[in-house]
Amino acid sequence: MKQFILEAPGRLVERDVPIPELAAGDVLLKTAALTLCGSDVRIYTGEKTGGVEWPVVIGHEFTGHVVEVGGSEESHLIGKFFSVVPWIVCRKCTACLNGQTNLCPNVKIFGYQLPGAMSEFVRIPKEAVANGNLIELPENLPPEVGALSEPLSCVFHGHLRCNIKVGETVLILGGGPIGLLHTKLALRAGAGQVIVSEPDPARATTLRQAGASSVINPLETDVAAFVQEATNNEGADVSIICIGRTELANEAIYSTRPGGVINLFAGFGHAGIGELDLNAIHYNQLDVIGNADATLGEFRTAARLIANGEVEVVSMLTHRYSLSDAQAAIDMAASGKGIKVAVLPDSEF
Ligand SMILES: [Zn+2]
Ligand SMILES: [Zn+2]
Repeated sequence: MKQFILEAPGRLVERDVPIPELAAGDVLLKTAALTLCGSDVRIYTGEKTGGVEWPVVIGHEFTGHVVEVGGSEESHLIGKFFSVVPWIVCRKCTACLNGQTNLCPNVKIFGYQLPGAMSEFVRIPKEAVANGNLIELPENLPPEVGALSEPLSCVFHGHLRCNIKVGETVLILGGGPIGLLHTKLALRAGAGQVIVSEPDPARATTLRQAGASSVINPLETDVAAFVQEATNNEGADVSIICIGRTELANEAIYSTRPGGVINLFAGFGHAGIGELDLNAIHYNQLDVIGNADATLGEFRTAARLIANGEVEVVSMLTHRYSLSDAQAAIDMAASGKGIKVAVLPDSEF
């Protein structure tokens, strides 16, 4: 089968490797679609190292059909179409037992420690099958649309932690795919105003079409001053940082009302070390919160929101490449142009 392996940062190599052999309980998925994520790009460039075992087959946002099973007990899965929860958790640790499977310290992730979906086939180990990591999707859903269950699940997790209430003002810093999904969920939750800070004009257009109240260019406009003016000098109720730039943390602090929430949704560059106005957090009693991935239950909800069309994601898919063109796909994703880049089997081209 055809597989792309990342041998070292920046070195993506096409290989012809045997189709994985299955043990009892495993299933073999024929990849139907992979969508690329900012974290795939950061693994590719070598910026992201945590949890990555080299050489690595990247790709954790994917769908596929079960074409083979390791034992007769799984035979009912053959032919079915699934989105795959990429995190295989242990179910035994304190986090798992408390229902916070997104914080499992023993997690194994497709595209990090396990071969991901930049490949014609993916072996799904029996622990994943047994844990319920295969989320069935309707057969008529385009596979690249189904693959967006993963990013939506992470955004859904972060969204729930913000506790946005009807009529509130939400500031979103960074209007790429994650900022766009946060915009959609904030609007669904009844936010009165969603202000997005995003310099790219094409992305700004997409955000306005999605219903953002204002999209401001942070290179031309002082974000905190704009938010204060738009809220009668009260500040945003909730600010969500969707791009990992450490300098945005103070911008969020100065844009948020006393008692408000600042969600550090993105992973940060520079090893995550930055400067914070601690007194502004202290005296304004700000709740600064983090996020990691999503639980299995949240993934299931995200897949359902997509399958039922309750959160529109089709328009986010701006670029499609064949598996053979995986290098071009990753280059496009790294360029910051467009929104989501999909990789589809060669047979679709
Ligand atoms: Zn992702
Ligand atoms: Zn665990």
